[in-house]
Amino acid sequence: MRTELVSEPGDVQRLNEDFASVALPASGRGGALVALDGVTPPTGPTGCLHSVPWFTARLGGALTELAVSLRDVPPAEVLSRAIVRTAETHGEGCDLSHPRTPQATVVMARWSPEWVEYLVLSDSALLVEKSDGTVSAVLDDRLSRLPRASLATDALIDAHLRNKEGGFFTAAADPSVAGRAVTGVLPRSSVRGLLALTDGAARWVEKFHEGGWRDCFTFVREEGAQALVDRVRELERADAETRTHLGRSKTHDDATVVYVEL
Ligand SMILES: [Zn+2]
Repeated sequence: MRTELVSEPGDVQRLNEDFASVALPASGRGGALVALDGVTPPTGPTGCLHSVPWFTARLGGALTELAVSLRDVPPAEVLSRAIVRTAETHGEGCDLSHPRTPQATVVMARWSPEWVEYLVLSDSALLVEKSDGTVSAVLDDRLSRLPRASLATDALIDAHLRNKEGGFFTAAADPSVAGRAVTGVLPRSSVRGLLALTDGAARWVEKFHEGGWRDCFTFVREEGAQALVDRVRELERADAETRTHLGRSKTHDDATVVYVEL
């Protein structure tokens, strides 16, 4: 078994809002990976005293612990309980119903001798390499399916799209959102490896078109997780100079790669 984990801030002046973990519990009968991408709020009130890194550390920590301690509880229920636990650590002064309350995208996978279970919520990616060498991407593409015009203003997103029916869903303070996640189970024998990417790392495929998902998986296996982030940074710097890729919100974004060879 081989695991690799890299998480880097998009800007060294700012805190990394991603979270990444791999847990290999003492039972030795399986493990879990978690990757979160904290959603950077537009400037303005969030209803909360806490920062995005505060939130992702707590939600990610809870998810990791519950994924390996509650092995019979399905991933969506694990996420739901982790959201409840995290919500309880906010204070009296936090308005958790605020649309910009701290929130994150979620990728979680858990393996046992029999099964590989997974969960994806919002726009991070989980790549699954099957034993026949094919690679499939598990994506929750609600955000990318929204018409561009509807993404016009932050206020509009808050009012109609953020954690709203017909919009997109992230893990914030409402545990019922776990039911919106893309989930699945595969026989362990059919899976060779897993690769979780936050969108800052998935740019290798989605923005810069260096290759497809299978190429991305092969690149990480052969060159390593750090090489993927380094290559994305290189492409971002070149892009910032030439400005050939329009529609980019930030030159660099937090980038997280979690690789597991089962
Ligand atoms: Zn709070």
